[in-house]
Amino acid sequence: MSSDGVADTEHSMQINPQRAQVLAENLSNVLQRVRLIAVSKLKTANDILALHEKPNGHVDFGENYAQELTEKAGLLPRSIRWHMIGALQTNKCKPLAEQVSNLYCVSSVDSSKKADALEKGRAALAEKQDLPANLRVLVQVNTSGEPEKSGVEPDQAAELCRHVREKCPHLHLAGVMTIGAIARSQASNSAESINEDFVCLREVRDKVVQELGITREELELSMGMSSDFEAAIAQGSDEVRIGTTIFGDRPQKKDAKIKDERAEEK
Ligand SMILES: *Cc1c(COP(=O)(O)O)cnc(C)c1O
Repeated sequence: MSSDGVADTEHSMQINPQRAQVLAENLSNVLQRVRLIAVSKLKTANDILALHEKPNGHVDFGENYAQELTEKAGLLPRSIRWHMIGALQTNKCKPLAEQVSNLYCVSSVDSSKKADALEKGRAALAEKQDLPANLRVLVQVNTSGEPEKSGVEPDQAAELCRHVREKCPHLHLAGVMTIGAIARSQASNSAESINEDFVCLREVRDKVVQELGITREELELSMGMSSDFEAAIAQGSDEVRIGTTIFGDRPQKKDAKIKDERAEEK
């Protein structure tokens, strides 16, 4: 106690370092239970830095375009974990995996060709620098059956997952991902309602786990965006990808800027 009777925490309280470590791990486990990817596509690097710097310290950011991700990664701290979440062209896979060493995950793998190209890029990077962690990948599943959506058909997911695990030593199969139909997410935008796309992704996960002889914990579910993340979490999502709710409406691609020039001038 200090003289005025108020507990003087800074000076009188002891923290047991072992206890502190256990608490910090528990806290981090809860916070990590659902990973939040802040989807920053078409938004400025300045916006990303604002969330990455203290006190927010957010580390997971998602981008849709390989070129934009690579440019932003070159400007921003390497403590960011980049997630490539957009439709990926096969010829962009190797350079992306090779050039962006803090690329943490590619969430949109939907062919063995793309997996092989990412593998080549990471293998090349591993030769240049010590990089112990494998690149995480998610297999994207087209759960809604819409022709314009990317992703493998639900019954082809296991084969691609097996390919990544058996043929791509520099990749780590971390889970499965879906976007889903907009109409369904609008119709089921509450924690109480059931979204068929999320039901489908869970079923795919369970089938893959069974076919590969691995545990459910080894295969995460990446589902849920601004319009449907509460429902996704209620249905077991391990990772949500949220853009608009955090950054506001996006500009058109032709108007998007990597740097906010007005902020630079100030
Ligand atoms: C753009 C995008 C998001 C984020 O969408 P919002 O509706 O802005 O939250 C999530 N996932 C993918 C694959 C995206 O392309």
